[in-house]
Parts: sequence; structure tokens; C-alpha cells
Amino acid sequence: MGSIRISEKPHAVCVPYPAQGHINPMLKVAKLLHHKGFHITFVNTEYNHRRLLKSRGPHSLDGLPDFRYQTIPDGLPLTDTDVTQDIPALCQSTTKTCLPHFRELLNKLNDTVLSTGPPVTCIVSDGSMSFTVEAAEEFGVPELLFWTPSACGILDASYLTNGYLETIIDWIPGMENVRFKDLPSFVRTIDPNDQMVNFVIAEIERALKASAIIINTFDAFEKPVLDSLSSSLLPPIYTVGPLHLMVNQISEERLKSMHSNLWKEESQCIDWLDSKKSNSVLYVNFGSITVMTPKQLVEFAWGLANSGYDFLWIVRPDLVVGELAMLPPEFVTETEERGMLASWCSQEQILKHTAIAGFLTHSGWNSTIESVCGGVPVICWPFFAEQLTNCWYSCGEWGIGMEIDTDVRREEVERQVRELMEGEKGKKMKSKAMEWKEKAEEAAGPGGSSYLNLDKLITEVLLSK
Ligand code: UDP
Repeated sequence: MGSIRISEKPHAVCVPYPAQGHINPMLKVAKLLHHKGFHITFVNTEYNHRRLLKSRGPHSLDGLPDFRYQTIPDGLPLTDTDVTQDIPALCQSTTKTCLPHFRELLNKLNDTVLSTGPPVTCIVSDGSMSFTVEAAEEFGVPELLFWTPSACGILDASYLTNGYLETIIDWIPGMENVRFKDLPSFVRTIDPNDQMVNFVIAEIERALKASAIIINTFDAFEKPVLDSLSSSLLPPIYTVGPLHLMVNQISEERLKSMHSNLWKEESQCIDWLDSKKSNSVLYVNFGSITVMTPKQLVEFAWGLANSGYDFLWIVRPDLVVGELAMLPPEFVTETEERGMLASWCSQEQILKHTAIAGFLTHSGWNSTIESVCGGVPVICWPFFAEQLTNCWYSCGEWGIGMEIDTDVRREEVERQVRELMEGEKGKKMKSKAMEWKEKAEEAAGPGGSSYLNLDKLITEVLLSK
């Protein structure tokens, strides 16, 4: 990847929404921009900053001379529970709290006496932190909004919030035959006072004022949806994904080694996979926010055990609602030989590993696109937000998935795992996943759509003033 020549370093302030599935892709955007010659300020919330220091070590956020970390408060009280998991509370709090602190930070970064970096020239902010749009207007710099969900998850949310309260939902252009149950959970309500609906409406309204929007997807994957989004009133949309394939092309070691995992990864997962045959292991991970009941956990456990296949299962300690996630001891003993349990892993590495045959996932967007890049088919158990739409697309349009009912039963888990690992449908899904993998690599590689879009975005938007 070549960098753009510029006389004075432009300075991008990157503001992720403070949850794992948003910080990870924003750090990748920041790395790409740094690689292209930008000075970067990466803004974490104070809570996450402390958490990252704890999970990654005291010097992990020292940054580089031209890649600095800063913090603003998220407004939630200091507690030991994970504040990044109560999405409605976090959305309310960041909307109410962050803007004055962010303004103060921009003033500090622009202060010729206090600041050692160049003046701020653009803001790159998560779509769910759109208070930054107001600050960008005040400071007269372009604002790039990064919408971290899939394009399909954004399209239906934007159409629903456009007026479904008054009208009957008909078809959404670019999204034929979608069922109500496949639409993002945040907007599947007719309650006009619903917190999340109002949050999404406000975010979409503010997005109209952004200079441009970026999405972590690639054109070939979501073409009809992207066409439909582009013909709406939204600012220009640039697809720049899969971000991790774009970032993999950067060779600078110091940049590569910057991480944003809020939990500590257990590296023995990779050693364990190294001892397994190619295409023999099912990977199970429900991301950073999904929770389930103790009964659902037990059903998954026995479904996996009864399938007879090897599995790597990441069980976050807080995976179960209101209690420590505990697997039945008989399950642990019975599957000792062929099951690996851990509490967090380096998922991107896992999904690239040749031993992985399939992924039982909650259909978070990062997980979905990381799986596609590994050529790994999925069994979907969506939890909330646009995960339901990602699941619908995975099982239909993209042909890479099967869905497990919310009311999960062990027999169903067993049947689907067997189908994925040895059945005809599983073979078709694998071959589709491999096709998408190739297309993803094409998009992110030199001359590909995302590769070119990144340069366009920089010249047309970020360096436009
Ligand atoms: N992740 C990880 N290790 C884990 C679980 C998740 O590195 O054990 C990363 C994963 O690679 C992805 C992010 O955390 O980048 C989860 O984002 P996603 O959108 O899939 O789901 P969310 O956590 O937001 O529900």
C-alpha cells in the first residue's frame, strides 16, 4: 500500500463507540489512515482506556509519536460491571455527556502551546457517536462517519426509522422478501417513545450532515443494498472493507502490534488448533455483548457434545444473564478430549486457521465479515440489533449460513453441526464461503474496490479543505 504525499501532516481524530465491536474496526481505520500519512488521535472513553491498560499491559496505549491516545468520559458511574454491554444506557449517556468534553479535547489538540501535534484537520467518528458532527461543524473540518454494521443492517434501519410509525412497512428497496423478524431489533417496535428507536432516528438525522460515510464491507458482497443506500439522501458512501484484509497489507510492525481487545486473549487456543486436522473443528463464539439463559447455555453444550465433533468454544465469564457462566461438569468431562474452552481469543487468527470448518456465531457484523474472509460457513444464533439481518443475509443471499432458533434445543444444535460438518448443505455453504473469501481478497487487494475507495475517500473528503 503506497501512502499519499503531503507537505503538512493531516490530523484525524478517531472516535469509536465504546464497545468492542466498534473499537476494533475503528482502530483498523486509524491504522490505515496513519499508514497513509495521517497524524492520529484515537479517543477512548476513560472506562475503556483503563480496561485496555489492564488487559493489555501498562504501556499498551503509549502509541507512537504520531499516533496518540486521548480519553473523554462516557458519563456512566464507575462500576465493576461491564458498562459497554448495556447499549441503551451507554447510548443515552454518551449522547448526553460527550460533546462538551470532545470540544474541550479538540481545543486542546489545536492549542499551539499545549499540543505537540499538527492542528486537527478531520474527524472520523462512529455513526453512534454522531454528536461529533456538531463539533466538526463548529471547528470547520470534514467529518467522516463510520457505520460499523453491515450495509444491509443500515439500510433497513434507515428505512424503518424514516416513517414506519405512520405507514405500513412495504418492501425496502434492495431488500426483497425480508421478514419483520429479520429487521434490526432496535427498530422493531411501534412505541414512539422507545429509547433505541429515538437514538437511531437522531443518529440517522445527524448523519445527513456528515461529509461522507464509510462501511466495513465490499461492493460485491452487498451490491443491491449499497445501490439502494447510495440513492437515498445520505452523504456519499465509501466501502472500505474487509478492514482487516486492508490492514494486513501494512507491514509496519509497531502499527500492527496495536490492539484493542478489552479482554485478554488466551493464546493456547491457537496451539490447540495447530494440533488438529484441517477442516475438523467447529468454532463457537457469541461476541462481546450477547448473553443467554443458563438453559440455553446447557442446550448449546449438549448439542455440541452430542454432535461428536471437535470444538473450540469461547465462553465469556459474563455470557450468562445475571450469573457466572458455568458449564455442566459432566459436559466438561465428556468432551475433554475434543473440546477446548477459553474465555477470549484472537478471533481473526482463529478464523484464518485451517483447522476451522465452521463458526457458530451470534452474527455480529465483525464476526460475519471475519468469517467470510476465512472462507468459513456459519451457524447463526443472532441476539440483537442488525445481527438478525446479517443472519437473514447469511442464510439467504450469501448462502453461507443456517439459523438456529432463539429457543435453542440440543437436538437442533447437534443436527445443524453435523449438517455443517458433513452434510450436502454444509458443502455448498463452504464452497459459497470460499467464493466470497476470494471476492473479499480482490476488493481489498491492489486495484480492488475497497483499496481504491480508501484513496478516493482521503483525497475527496479528508483532505478536501
Ligand atoms: N473478538 C475477539 N475475540 C473473542 C470474541 C470477539 O477478538 O473471543 C472480536 C471479534 O474479532 C470482533 C469483535 O470482537 O472483531 C466482536 O464484534 P462483533 O461485531 O462480531 O460482535 P459484538 O461483540 O459487537 O456483538
